[in-house]
Amino acid sequence: MARALIALGGNVGDVRATFRKAIANICGMTQAALLARSSDYATPPWGDVEQAPFVNACVEIDTCLDAHALLFALQKIESKFGRDRRKERRWGPRTLDLDLIAYDDVSLNTAELTLPHPRLFERAFVLVPLAEIAPDRVIGGRSVASALAGLSTDGIERLSDAI
Ligand code: ADP
Ligand code: MG
Repeated sequence: MARALIALGGNVGDVRATFRKAIANICGMTQAALLARSSDYATPPWGDVEQAPFVNACVEIDTCLDAHALLFALQKIESKFGRDRRKERRWGPRTLDLDLIAYDDVSLNTAELTLPHPRLFERAFVLVPLAEIAPDRVIGGRSVASALAGLSTDGIERLSDAI
């Protein structure tokens, strides 16, 4: 078994409902046990700022799949929830983005998959939910909490659990 951290994001449709269904799908399709789930957070758009705010969250799972098979399953779940990469612009609006943040302590760089996720340390919208569930986790030599301490969290708001 391996421990994987997955970041969820989206800004089209009822994103929080999509997250609930997507997390159930992640556990079903990847033969995974859900170890932790962060709160949902409202976050300002990043990269391409002319779009609706995002919702972001993170989960930790225990899975039997290898890292590439896990990424492939995550991409299938993105498609199932309406994501069509051919029709979108980079960092533009999307129903569901599933990023593999870390897979045990594996470090790799292939055409389809880089681990740990290459833009993790620039993204407070990933580190804030991640710090809720795994503040002491060391990824790429840095703890999640210390990486977050160096970033602005302006505009990131925890959403209430009552949904
Ligand atoms: P982003 O998540 O940065 O907004 P995309 O979701 O459009 O961008 O992903 C672009 C590509 O990144 C995908 O085709 C995927 O193969 C690749 N990729 C590389 N490493 C990872 C990773 N750790 N998690 C998810 N996708 C990854
Ligand atoms: Mg992605």
